[in-house]
Amino acid sequence: MKPELSIVIPIYNEEAGLGALFERLYPALDKIGVPYEIVFVNDGSRDNSVSILAEQFRTRPDVTRVVLFNGNYGQHMAILAGFEATRGEIVVTLDADLQNPPEEIHKLVEKIREGYDYVGSIRRKRQDSAWRTIASKMMNRLRYRITNIQITDQGNMLRAYGRNVIDLVNQCGEVNTFVPALAYKFSRKPTEIIVEHEERAAGESKYSLYSLIRLNFDLVTGFSLVPLQIFSMLGMVMSLLSALLVVMLLIRRFIMGAEAEGVFTLFAIAFFFMGVILFGIGLLGEYIGRIFQQVRARPRYVVQTILQHVPGKDEQIDLAVEKRQVGR
Ligand code: UDP
Ligand code: MG
Repeated sequence: MKPELSIVIPIYNEEAGLGALFERLYPALDKIGVPYEIVFVNDGSRDNSVSILAEQFRTRPDVTRVVLFNGNYGQHMAILAGFEATRGEIVVTLDADLQNPPEEIHKLVEKIREGYDYVGSIRRKRQDSAWRTIASKMMNRLRYRITNIQITDQGNMLRAYGRNVIDLVNQCGEVNTFVPALAYKFSRKPTEIIVEHEERAAGESKYSLYSLIRLNFDLVTGFSLVPLQIFSMLGMVMSLLSALLVVMLLIRRFIMGAEAEGVFTLFAIAFFFMGVILFGIGLLGEYIGRIFQQVRARPRYVVQTILQHVPGKDEQIDLAVEKRQVGR
């Protein structure tokens, strides 16, 4: 039977928390009372996660499917691979660390049933470190102004998407992307609801400050050219101002004769603009680097195996896919 609800969960080194996740996730979904499937995507975990997932697949083969990557391609690639495997009309993404309580899923499903095709969620009380909460609030605001994408709480992955949105996302071949923003672009009727948020159940965050900064660059460069345009504007204003300065200095030269005061002020200004220029070149590089990755057109991820129950086959592991499905 075709499931109506598909849950997609990316997994990277989550052996410590998977048991607790299963214990709460399956009952919460059983309670909703619609046919469902859970697609776990193992993003190249180096711990015991794979065997725990395989074990869980054996326990509930009717509703469990496991996509195994051959390496670590990042949370968003894992979610995209999960999307391609889903069959439900409603697709919900969730983190594996129980920061998004599975008991909240039914709220998202109800919203989708009301006719929305994108349901974002806002954490009522965010259980993360203070610096991350503040930094992400600031980034949220900046991102909104640059990209015009209305995601109040971008760090939160508990979201539901309609099939129409998922089908469009599946057609994209973007190498660096941010799934909620991409889906938002394709949605006709988006909305947001407030959900609970818990502290990480076990293990630790997979995101360092560095990878968070990279992710935000992906988000901004992937959805907007505004940063580049700001630099062109800045360049124009600067050229205008320096042209004025040249004229002024010329006039002074004729009125007051040669003068060489204020050299240090000049240095300060010059260094400031060197900084601005370096930042501009770096920013340009962010775009060019992504263009390069895109035109190289390597597979975005490699699926090694999918554990899934194939009706009519005794074999529960779908060996056909061992041929290696390759994402675009
Ligand atoms: N994750 C992943 N690949 C990665 C990093 C993370 O699949 O390279 C998964 C991770 O297992 C978890 C989710 O993405 O299910 C969110 O990760 P985490 O909880 O570490 O992020 P945070 O909550 O700190 O933003
Ligand atoms: Mg987390």
